Amino acid sequence: MKSLKELVRPNIFTLKPYSSAREEFTGEASVYLDSNESPYNVPYNRYPDPHQKRLKERISKLKGVDPSQIFLGNGSDEPIDLLIKAFCKPNEDNLISIEPTYGMYQVAADINNIAVKRVPLTVRFELDTNALLQAADNHSKLLFICSPNNPTGNSFKHNEMIELINAFDGIVVLDEAYIDFSSQPSLLAYLHKLPNLVILQTFSKAWALAGLRLGMAFASPEIIAILNKIKYPYNINILTQEKVLEMLKNSDTTAQWVKITIDERQKMRAELEKLTIITEIYPSEANFLLIRTPKANDLYSYLVNHKIIVRNRSNIALCNNCIRITIGSTAENQQLLRAIKQYQSFT
Ligand SMILES: *Cc1c(COP(=O)(O)O)cnc(C)c1O
Repeated sequence: MKSLKELVRPNIFTLKPYSSAREEFTGEASVYLDSNESPYNVPYNRYPDPHQKRLKERISKLKGVDPSQIFLGNGSDEPIDLLIKAFCKPNEDNLISIEPTYGMYQVAADINNIAVKRVPLTVRFELDTNALLQAADNHSKLLFICSPNNPTGNSFKHNEMIELINAFDGIVVLDEAYIDFSSQPSLLAYLHKLPNLVILQTFSKAWALAGLRLGMAFASPEIIAILNKIKYPYNINILTQEKVLEMLKNSDTTAQWVKITIDERQKMRAELEKLTIITEIYPSEANFLLIRTPKANDLYSYLVNHKIIVRNRSNIALCNNCIRITIGSTAENQQLLRAIKQYQSFT
Protein backbone atom coordinates (compact mmCIF):
# COMPACT_ATOMS: atom_id res chain seq x y z
CA MET A 1 0.00 0.00 0.00
CA LYS A 2 1.14 3.53 -0.78
CA SER A 3 0.95 5.99 2.11
CA LEU A 4 -2.44 7.59 2.76
CA LYS A 5 -0.93 10.96 1.95
CA GLU A 6 -0.01 9.69 -1.52
CA LEU A 7 -3.46 8.19 -2.05
CA VAL A 8 -5.79 10.94 -0.81
CA ARG A 9 -6.52 13.82 -3.18
CA PRO A 10 -4.33 16.76 -2.07
CA ASN A 11 -7.30 19.16 -1.74
CA ILE A 12 -9.03 16.67 0.57
CA PHE A 13 -5.85 16.04 2.55
CA THR A 14 -5.51 19.75 3.35
CA LEU A 15 -9.26 20.46 3.58
CA LYS A 16 -10.45 22.32 6.63
CA PRO A 17 -13.91 20.83 7.26
CA TYR A 18 -17.05 22.73 8.25
CA SER A 19 -17.20 23.07 12.01
CA SER A 20 -20.73 23.00 13.37
CA ALA A 21 -21.85 24.67 16.59
CA ARG A 22 -22.31 21.21 18.12
CA GLU A 23 -18.69 20.39 17.43
CA GLU A 24 -17.32 23.58 18.94
CA PHE A 25 -19.22 22.99 22.18
CA THR A 26 -19.56 19.32 23.16
CA GLY A 27 -20.43 19.41 26.89
CA GLU A 28 -23.88 19.45 28.49
CA ALA A 29 -25.68 22.78 28.87
CA SER A 30 -29.20 23.84 29.80
CA VAL A 31 -29.68 26.57 27.21
CA TYR A 32 -28.64 26.09 23.59
CA LEU A 33 -28.73 29.31 21.60
CA ASP A 34 -25.83 28.49 19.31
CA SER A 35 -27.36 26.79 16.26
CA ASN A 36 -30.27 29.03 15.25
CA GLU A 37 -32.65 26.15 15.96
CA SER A 38 -36.32 26.62 16.81
CA PRO A 39 -37.25 26.11 20.49
CA TYR A 40 -40.48 24.35 19.40
CA ASN A 41 -41.34 20.78 18.34
CA VAL A 42 -38.87 19.06 20.70
CA PRO A 43 -36.81 16.87 20.07
CA TYR A 44 -36.80 17.24 16.27
CA ASN A 45 -36.07 20.95 16.55
CA ARG A 46 -32.45 20.05 17.37
CA TYR A 47 -29.76 19.08 14.91
CA PRO A 48 -28.72 15.44 15.25
CA ASP A 49 -25.38 14.36 16.72
CA PRO A 50 -22.99 14.89 13.78
CA HIS A 51 -20.79 11.95 14.87
CA GLN A 52 -23.57 9.57 16.02
CA LYS A 53 -21.68 8.76 19.23
CA ARG A 54 -24.31 6.57 20.93
CA LEU A 55 -25.01 4.61 17.79
CA LYS A 56 -21.34 4.06 17.05
CA GLU A 57 -20.72 2.83 20.61
CA ARG A 58 -23.49 0.24 20.19
CA ILE A 59 -22.23 -0.85 16.76
CA SER A 60 -18.69 -0.94 18.12
CA LYS A 61 -19.74 -3.56 20.70
CA LEU A 62 -21.70 -5.56 18.16
CA LYS A 63 -18.88 -5.66 15.59
CA GLY A 64 -15.86 -5.74 17.91
CA VAL A 65 -14.19 -2.65 16.44
CA ASP A 66 -13.35 0.72 17.97
CA PRO A 67 -15.82 3.60 17.37
CA SER A 68 -12.96 5.45 15.62
CA GLN A 69 -13.02 2.68 12.98
CA ILE A 70 -16.69 3.27 12.12
CA PHE A 71 -18.23 5.67 9.60
CA LEU A 72 -22.01 5.89 9.28
CA GLY A 73 -23.61 7.09 6.07
CA ASN A 74 -26.92 7.66 4.31
CA GLY A 75 -26.99 4.06 3.06
CA SER A 76 -23.89 2.42 1.64
CA ASP A 77 -24.34 4.86 -1.21
CA GLU A 78 -22.75 7.61 0.87
CA PRO A 79 -19.45 5.89 1.78
CA ILE A 80 -19.17 4.59 -1.83
CA ASP A 81 -19.45 8.17 -3.12
CA LEU A 82 -17.22 9.66 -0.41
CA LEU A 83 -14.46 7.09 -0.95
CA ILE A 84 -14.36 8.01 -4.64
CA LYS A 85 -14.41 11.73 -3.80
CA ALA A 86 -11.61 11.33 -1.24
CA PHE A 87 -9.22 9.23 -3.31
CA CYS A 88 -9.89 9.71 -7.03
CA LYS A 89 -8.99 12.88 -8.95
CA PRO A 90 -11.72 13.46 -11.55
CA ASN A 91 -10.66 12.77 -15.11
CA GLU A 92 -7.27 11.51 -13.96
CA ASP A 93 -7.51 8.61 -11.50
CA ASN A 94 -9.40 5.36 -12.00
CA LEU A 95 -10.87 2.56 -9.95
CA ILE A 96 -10.98 -1.17 -10.55
CA SER A 97 -14.08 -3.26 -10.13
CA ILE A 98 -15.08 -6.86 -10.66
CA GLU A 99 -17.75 -7.67 -13.25
CA PRO A 100 -20.59 -8.55 -12.85
CA THR A 101 -21.22 -6.77 -9.56
CA TYR A 102 -23.37 -4.14 -7.83
CA GLY A 103 -24.16 -1.29 -10.25
CA MET A 104 -23.67 1.56 -7.81
CA TYR A 105 -19.84 1.60 -7.98
CA GLN A 106 -19.98 2.39 -11.71
CA VAL A 107 -22.68 5.06 -11.25
CA ALA A 108 -20.81 6.77 -8.41
CA ALA A 109 -17.63 6.69 -10.51
CA ASP A 110 -19.47 8.15 -13.53
CA ILE A 111 -20.92 10.97 -11.42
CA ASN A 112 -17.41 11.79 -10.21
CA ASN A 113 -15.91 11.44 -13.71
CA ILE A 114 -13.70 8.52 -12.71
CA ALA A 115 -12.89 5.75 -15.19
CA VAL A 116 -13.75 2.19 -14.11
CA LYS A 117 -11.57 -0.72 -15.18
CA ARG A 118 -13.91 -3.69 -15.08
CA VAL A 119 -12.29 -7.08 -14.66
CA PRO A 120 -14.56 -10.08 -15.34
CA LEU A 121 -14.90 -12.86 -12.80
CA THR A 122 -14.19 -16.37 -14.09
CA VAL A 123 -17.14 -18.29 -15.61
CA ARG A 124 -17.75 -19.84 -12.18
CA PHE A 125 -17.86 -16.28 -10.76
CA GLU A 126 -14.53 -16.61 -8.93
CA LEU A 127 -12.07 -13.72 -8.44
CA ASP A 128 -9.38 -13.41 -11.09
CA THR A 129 -6.75 -12.01 -8.72
CA ASN A 130 -3.98 -11.78 -11.32
CA ALA A 131 -6.16 -9.96 -13.85
CA LEU A 132 -7.32 -7.51 -11.15
CA LEU A 133 -3.74 -6.71 -10.17
CA GLN A 134 -2.64 -6.45 -13.79
CA ALA A 135 -5.43 -3.96 -14.49
CA ALA A 136 -3.95 -1.57 -11.92
CA ASP A 137 -1.82 1.38 -12.98
CA ASN A 138 -0.33 4.30 -11.11
CA HIS A 139 -3.72 6.05 -11.09
CA SER A 140 -5.74 3.12 -9.73
CA LYS A 141 -6.67 4.40 -6.27
CA LEU A 142 -9.56 2.09 -5.36
CA LEU A 143 -10.48 -1.54 -6.00
CA PHE A 144 -14.09 -2.58 -5.32
CA ILE A 145 -15.01 -6.16 -4.51
CA CYS A 146 -18.29 -7.45 -3.14
CA SER A 147 -18.57 -10.67 -1.15
CA PRO A 148 -21.10 -12.29 -1.14
CA ASN A 149 -21.33 -10.73 -4.59
CA ASN A 150 -24.45 -9.18 -6.07
CA PRO A 151 -25.89 -10.53 -8.39
CA THR A 152 -23.92 -13.79 -8.46
CA GLY A 153 -24.57 -14.66 -4.78
CA ASN A 154 -21.25 -16.40 -4.08
CA SER A 155 -18.55 -15.43 -1.56
CA PHE A 156 -14.91 -15.19 -2.51
CA LYS A 157 -12.23 -17.12 -0.67
CA HIS A 158 -10.72 -15.32 2.33
CA ASN A 159 -7.14 -16.13 1.34
CA GLU A 160 -7.65 -14.79 -2.20
CA MET A 161 -9.19 -11.55 -0.95
CA ILE A 162 -6.41 -11.08 1.60
CA GLU A 163 -3.78 -11.74 -1.04
CA LEU A 164 -5.41 -9.14 -3.28
CA ILE A 165 -5.64 -6.55 -0.49
CA ASN A 166 -1.99 -7.09 0.44
CA ALA A 167 -0.81 -6.83 -3.16
CA PHE A 168 -2.85 -3.78 -4.22
CA ASP A 169 -1.17 -0.36 -3.84
CA GLY A 170 -4.40 1.55 -3.25
CA ILE A 171 -7.50 1.10 -1.09
CA VAL A 172 -9.62 -2.07 -1.38
CA VAL A 173 -13.32 -1.55 -0.68
CA LEU A 174 -14.99 -4.83 0.29
CA ASP A 175 -18.78 -4.60 0.20
CA GLU A 176 -20.27 -7.07 2.70
CA ALA A 177 -23.93 -6.03 2.32
CA TYR A 178 -24.98 -9.71 2.44
CA ILE A 179 -22.49 -10.99 5.03
CA ASP A 180 -25.21 -11.89 7.57
CA PHE A 181 -26.59 -14.52 5.18
CA SER A 182 -23.16 -16.02 4.48
CA SER A 183 -21.57 -19.15 5.91
CA GLN A 184 -18.23 -17.33 5.69
CA PRO A 185 -17.35 -14.81 8.41
CA SER A 186 -16.69 -11.14 7.71
CA LEU A 187 -13.15 -9.90 7.03
CA LEU A 188 -13.67 -7.44 9.93
CA ALA A 189 -11.37 -9.55 12.12
CA TYR A 190 -8.49 -8.76 9.73
CA LEU A 191 -9.08 -5.01 9.62
CA HIS A 192 -6.22 -4.18 11.99
CA LYS A 193 -3.79 -6.15 9.81
CA LEU A 194 -4.92 -4.61 6.53
CA PRO A 195 -4.52 -0.79 6.64
CA ASN A 196 -5.78 -0.36 3.05
CA LEU A 197 -9.05 -2.24 3.63
CA VAL A 198 -12.47 -0.58 3.89
CA ILE A 199 -15.41 -2.87 4.67
CA LEU A 200 -18.96 -1.79 3.86
CA GLN A 201 -21.99 -3.22 5.64
CA THR A 202 -25.58 -2.01 5.76
CA PHE A 203 -28.82 -2.01 7.76
CA SER A 204 -30.76 -2.43 4.49
CA LYS A 205 -30.75 -6.22 4.14
CA ALA A 206 -30.54 -8.53 7.17
CA TRP A 207 -31.66 -5.74 9.53
CA ALA A 208 -34.73 -5.06 7.38
CA LEU A 209 -34.25 -1.27 7.58
CA ALA A 210 -33.73 -0.28 3.93
CA GLY A 211 -36.18 2.61 4.37
CA LEU A 212 -34.09 4.28 7.07
CA ARG A 213 -30.91 4.52 4.94
CA LEU A 214 -28.04 3.55 7.22
CA GLY A 215 -24.79 2.19 5.87
CA MET A 216 -21.55 1.43 7.72
CA ALA A 217 -17.93 1.67 6.65
CA PHE A 218 -15.19 0.07 8.78
CA ALA A 219 -11.54 1.02 8.26
CA SER A 220 -8.46 2.41 10.01
CA PRO A 221 -9.11 5.53 12.13
CA GLU A 222 -7.06 7.49 9.56
CA ILE A 223 -9.33 6.53 6.65
CA ILE A 224 -12.47 7.06 8.77
CA ALA A 225 -11.24 10.56 9.70
CA ILE A 226 -10.98 11.44 6.01
CA LEU A 227 -14.57 10.30 5.36
CA ASN A 228 -15.79 12.27 8.38
CA LYS A 229 -14.08 15.38 7.07
CA ILE A 230 -15.98 15.38 3.78
CA LYS A 231 -19.44 14.09 4.76
CA TYR A 232 -22.41 16.45 5.14
CA PRO A 233 -22.19 17.61 8.77
CA TYR A 234 -25.53 16.12 9.89
CA ASN A 235 -25.73 13.20 7.47
CA ILE A 236 -27.74 10.84 9.73
CA ASN A 237 -31.04 12.25 10.97
CA ILE A 238 -32.43 11.86 14.51
CA LEU A 239 -35.22 9.46 13.51
CA THR A 240 -32.77 7.05 11.88
CA GLN A 241 -30.33 7.18 14.80
CA GLU A 242 -33.13 6.49 17.31
CA LYS A 243 -34.83 3.74 15.32
CA VAL A 244 -31.59 1.87 14.64
CA LEU A 245 -30.62 2.04 18.33
CA GLU A 246 -34.00 0.52 19.13
CA MET A 247 -33.55 -2.27 16.55
CA LEU A 248 -30.10 -3.05 17.92
CA LYS A 249 -31.77 -3.89 21.24
CA ASN A 250 -33.63 -6.79 19.64
CA SER A 251 -30.88 -8.23 17.53
CA ASP A 252 -32.37 -11.66 18.36
CA THR A 253 -35.27 -10.87 16.03
CA THR A 254 -32.85 -10.01 13.23
CA ALA A 255 -30.95 -13.25 13.79
CA GLN A 256 -34.24 -15.14 13.60
CA TRP A 257 -35.21 -13.43 10.32
CA VAL A 258 -31.82 -14.31 8.84
CA LYS A 259 -32.22 -17.93 9.87
CA ILE A 260 -35.68 -18.14 8.28
CA THR A 261 -34.40 -16.50 5.08
CA ILE A 262 -31.54 -18.99 4.77
CA ASP A 263 -34.03 -21.80 5.37
CA GLU A 264 -36.37 -20.41 2.72
CA ARG A 265 -33.43 -20.08 0.34
CA GLN A 266 -32.70 -23.82 0.67
CA LYS A 267 -36.36 -24.68 0.19
CA MET A 268 -36.60 -22.45 -2.87
CA ARG A 269 -33.47 -24.06 -4.33
CA ALA A 270 -34.89 -27.55 -3.81
CA GLU A 271 -38.16 -26.58 -5.52
CA LEU A 272 -36.44 -24.81 -8.44
CA GLU A 273 -34.20 -27.84 -8.98
CA LYS A 274 -37.30 -29.86 -9.87
CA LEU A 275 -38.16 -27.52 -12.75
CA THR A 276 -36.80 -28.41 -16.20
CA ILE A 277 -36.88 -24.80 -17.47
CA ILE A 278 -34.39 -23.77 -14.79
CA THR A 279 -31.05 -24.91 -16.17
CA GLU A 280 -28.82 -23.50 -13.45
CA ILE A 281 -29.17 -22.34 -9.86
CA TYR A 282 -25.96 -20.75 -8.68
CA PRO A 283 -24.63 -21.29 -5.14
CA SER A 284 -25.83 -18.46 -2.88
CA GLU A 285 -24.56 -17.01 0.37
CA ALA A 286 -27.03 -14.13 0.19
CA ASN A 287 -30.80 -13.48 0.45
CA PHE A 288 -31.35 -14.17 -3.25
CA LEU A 289 -30.79 -16.86 -5.86
CA LEU A 290 -29.39 -16.34 -9.34
CA ILE A 291 -30.94 -18.74 -11.83
CA ARG A 292 -30.56 -19.41 -15.54
CA THR A 293 -33.36 -20.34 -17.91
CA PRO A 294 -33.35 -20.63 -21.73
CA LYS A 295 -35.66 -17.61 -22.25
CA ALA A 296 -35.14 -15.27 -19.29
CA ASN A 297 -36.91 -12.31 -20.92
CA ASP A 298 -40.01 -14.45 -21.52
CA LEU A 299 -40.12 -15.73 -17.96
CA TYR A 300 -39.52 -12.23 -16.62
CA SER A 301 -42.45 -10.80 -18.64
CA TYR A 302 -44.69 -13.69 -17.64
CA LEU A 303 -43.98 -13.00 -13.97
CA VAL A 304 -44.51 -9.24 -14.39
CA ASN A 305 -47.89 -9.99 -15.99
CA HIS A 306 -48.69 -11.98 -12.87
CA LYS A 307 -47.64 -9.05 -10.70
CA ILE A 308 -44.45 -10.71 -9.48
CA ILE A 309 -41.29 -8.69 -9.96
CA VAL A 310 -37.87 -10.33 -10.03
CA ARG A 311 -34.62 -8.84 -11.31
CA ASN A 312 -33.81 -9.59 -14.94
CA ARG A 313 -30.00 -9.73 -15.11
CA SER A 314 -29.97 -11.12 -18.63
CA ASN A 315 -28.14 -8.17 -20.15
CA ILE A 316 -25.14 -8.00 -17.86
CA ALA A 317 -21.75 -9.62 -18.34
CA LEU A 318 -21.58 -13.41 -17.74
CA CYS A 319 -25.28 -13.42 -16.75
CA ASN A 320 -26.93 -14.10 -20.10
CA ASN A 321 -30.45 -15.47 -19.45
CA CYS A 322 -30.09 -15.03 -15.70
CA ILE A 323 -32.71 -13.84 -13.26
CA ARG A 324 -32.08 -12.80 -9.67
CA ILE A 325 -34.79 -13.82 -7.23
CA THR A 326 -34.96 -12.25 -3.77
CA ILE A 327 -35.98 -14.66 -1.01
CA GLY A 328 -39.23 -13.26 0.40
CA SER A 329 -41.71 -14.51 2.97
CA THR A 330 -42.89 -18.13 2.76
CA ALA A 331 -46.14 -17.01 1.13
CA GLU A 332 -44.35 -14.81 -1.42
CA ASN A 333 -41.93 -17.58 -2.31
CA GLN A 334 -44.78 -20.04 -2.82
CA GLN A 335 -46.59 -17.57 -5.05
CA LEU A 336 -43.46 -17.20 -7.18
CA LEU A 337 -42.98 -20.97 -7.43
CA ARG A 338 -46.61 -21.48 -8.46
CA ALA A 339 -46.23 -18.89 -11.21
CA ILE A 340 -42.99 -20.42 -12.56
CA LYS A 341 -44.60 -23.89 -12.57
CA GLN A 342 -47.56 -22.47 -14.51
CA TYR A 343 -45.17 -20.83 -16.98
CA GLN A 344 -43.36 -24.14 -17.42
CA SER A 345 -46.60 -25.99 -18.14
CA PHE A 346 -47.29 -23.56 -21.03
CA THR A 347 -43.89 -23.85 -22.68
C1 LIG B 1 -28.27 -3.78 -1.35
C2 LIG B 1 -26.83 -3.52 -1.46
C3 LIG B 1 -26.23 -2.52 -0.69
C4 LIG B 1 -27.02 -1.67 0.25
O1 LIG B 1 -27.03 -0.35 -0.12
P1 LIG B 1 -27.67 0.71 0.91
O2 LIG B 1 -27.34 2.00 0.24
O3 LIG B 1 -26.95 0.51 2.21
O4 LIG B 1 -29.12 0.41 1.00
C5 LIG B 1 -24.86 -2.34 -0.77
N1 LIG B 1 -24.12 -3.11 -1.56
C6 LIG B 1 -24.65 -4.09 -2.30
C7 LIG B 1 -23.77 -4.95 -3.11
C8 LIG B 1 -26.02 -4.31 -2.29
O5 LIG B 1 -26.54 -5.28 -3.06
